[in-house]
Amino acid sequence: MSILVVMEQRAIQGPPAWNRMSWETLAAGQQLARELHMPVSAAVLGQGVDALASELAERKLDHVYALEQDLLKEYTPDTYTSALQQLIEKVQPTYVIFPHTYEVRDYLPKLATALGRVAVSDVVGHRVEDGKVVLVRQLFQGKLSADVRFQGDAPYFASMQAGAYRADQVEAGSAPVEKFAPQLSPSRTKPLELFREAARAVDLTAAEIIVSVGRGIKEADNIPIVQKLADALGAELAASRPICDSGWLPMERQVGSSGQTVAPKMYLAVGISGAIQHLVGMKASKTIVAINKDANAPIFEVADYGIVGDLFQVVPALVEEVQKARQ
Ligand SMILES: Cc1cc2nc3c(=O)[nH]c(=O)nc-3n(C[C@H](O)[C@H](O)[C@H](O)COP(=O)(O)OP(=O)(O)OC[C@H]3O[C@@H](n4cnc5c(N)ncnc54)[C@H](O)[C@@H]3O)c2cc1C
Repeated sequence: MSILVVMEQRAIQGPPAWNRMSWETLAAGQQLARELHMPVSAAVLGQGVDALASELAERKLDHVYALEQDLLKEYTPDTYTSALQQLIEKVQPTYVIFPHTYEVRDYLPKLATALGRVAVSDVVGHRVEDGKVVLVRQLFQGKLSADVRFQGDAPYFASMQAGAYRADQVEAGSAPVEKFAPQLSPSRTKPLELFREAARAVDLTAAEIIVSVGRGIKEADNIPIVQKLADALGAELAASRPICDSGWLPMERQVGSSGQTVAPKMYLAVGISGAIQHLVGMKASKTIVAINKDANAPIFEVADYGIVGDLFQVVPALVEEVQKARQ
């Protein structure tokens, strides 16, 4: 009975570096280990991962597995699945957990299927009941939370959503590194250019006030409505992902798991539903204000102040009041 955390690393330019969500997943693994009284180990795959494995060995873990192979230099679903399948057959873990990254979403269903198991994806929390793990996932854009229990034989697979666990809670310790060279054949797919996360040309992390706009704004031509509010408050303008994906605002203004993580004094979310991928990028803000016409929008769960109303009425009225107060 044990837990295995599969860490993710990438070498975009220079030597391999951790995906920050790996540490959050490691914290989840250590927490589960304490609650289930099981040992927890971690694995890192790639080529040239010695330094990363040594860094991992300074954490409270039973073992660090370094899967080193030339064919793991670049990610492909075939090689990653095969390598992990071999490790799992060797180590026989009960739970195998992953960060819910683009890569993991690509290969985890394949890996689980190869072993005749299912994978629970996008986990935002867990609890232990009668020695069994209950995972929590969000449904319908966060409007419902579902409890998920594993059935059948181990190994049980799960991927953890960004921001669900805290990387700063990873416990230090020391662990032996075990090298493991899986037997691999070249992949059937050819890796192309890596996905790059939103550029960081605008440093939103330095802003004291952020006005952030979501799909509630309806069309690009309406952006000036919120820009006026940002100007009146002396704030930076930010956005949820669909706004940036549509090109209504540049990518560097995106807040969330694939954008920037911000913690300003005030974060004003306008027409943003509060999907978990957005929340992880802003929930540490000191004061959160939300304007949304849907009283059940998940953004209100993290908001200190909420205005249930139509942004096209509320925002111009707010601008007027702010301007009056500043005169
Ligand atoms: C791998 C991955 C990564 C992601 N990364 C990010 C990320 O970094 N950042 C991010 O933001 N998202 C990210 N997403 C997308 C995320 O899941 C949501 O789809 C997105 O955050 C929703 O954006 P939204 O709230 O603007 O739109 P919606 O969910 O469509 O919400 C619009 C809201 O506006 C409200 N509204 C509509 N009209 C009005 C009105 N007139 N007045 C007031 N309120 C109104 C509605 O009630 C609704 O709540 C990611 C998704 C995936 C799968």
